[in-house]
Amino acid sequence: MRVRIGKAILGWGAVALILFSGAKVQAKGFEVTVLGAHGGLEDGNLSAYLLREQGANVGVLLDAGTVLNGMEKADAAHAFDRLTLPDDPKTSRAGGLVHHVIQGYLISHAHLDHVAGLIAVSPNDPGKPIYALPSVLSVMQDDLFNHRVWPNLADRGPKPALGLFHYHDLLEGQSVPLAETTLTVTSYPLSHGGVESTAFLLRSGADALLYLGDTGPDAVEHSNRLETLWRLMAPLVRAHQLRGMIIECSYDNSRADAQLFGHMTPLWLLRELRALKTQAGLSMKGFPVLVSHIKPVLTQGEAVEHRIEAQLGAGNEEGFRFIIARQGAQIAFP
Ligand SMILES: [Zn+2]
Repeated sequence: MRVRIGKAILGWGAVALILFSGAKVQAKGFEVTVLGAHGGLEDGNLSAYLLREQGANVGVLLDAGTVLNGMEKADAAHAFDRLTLPDDPKTSRAGGLVHHVIQGYLISHAHLDHVAGLIAVSPNDPGKPIYALPSVLSVMQDDLFNHRVWPNLADRGPKPALGLFHYHDLLEGQSVPLAETTLTVTSYPLSHGGVESTAFLLRSGADALLYLGDTGPDAVEHSNRLETLWRLMAPLVRAHQLRGMIIECSYDNSRADAQLFGHMTPLWLLRELRALKTQAGLSMKGFPVLVSHIKPVLTQGEAVEHRIEAQLGAGNEEGFRFIIARQGAQIAFP
């Protein structure tokens, strides 16, 4: 009897030790699935990034330019092969993915290339929270889900508010838990050619990942919002908590500053990242930067992605690890 108890204690002790050490090394990081990569032109491939804690079945969508088509493309690219979906014979595979994996929508701003997929899927994906700054939600409420452009399926705004999904106001700098996930988000306003856009800092435990919606460089926007953001991110860089960043680079370097309309070129993006590095005060060699929102061009010649990648590479004195977003790609931020 004693021996058995002794064995049991030893057994549980070992289990507890494994669990405890497992908990201690629980720096899991994140995985991002690109549902839509581009900033305009290509319907079916517009800004939408599924963010999950690494290994998690559920996550949130960062912008929602393309939803259903993006889930199908990513599924075809085997992004969800290891996922466990609830057994529901009445729901299609795509339906199961949208309903189960996406537990909420974080919208940086209400430009159509960031919300078109959400509008399209909204009647068939009820019950989801939509998180955004009040300025963004007011545009969605007054100018999109208003019974003229689209039925008001939300829980406030022009009557009748049908209540299929819920607006969640995010307040600048306040950390908010994201329902049904292990994630929290803190939001910071960005300047986007006269429109307020948003940077989302996603956290899971000590790990953090920064997503920026559309933004122009401070110098062109006559703003200090990026400078402020970099100052707030610098301690996370120094503590090696910030696992990476998703940021836009809409145009190549041939674009004139006066024609940026609140967007970045490789030249400006490199300058802004250098400003972050200076604030952090340490090497950021190898820091992953997922480059989003490239605007396709309809001219002959080399693809704009290749030009932007080459221009980022040519000016990359700090050694950032640039990854060009492509639809269906799965990127780990360990
Ligand atoms: Zn925009």
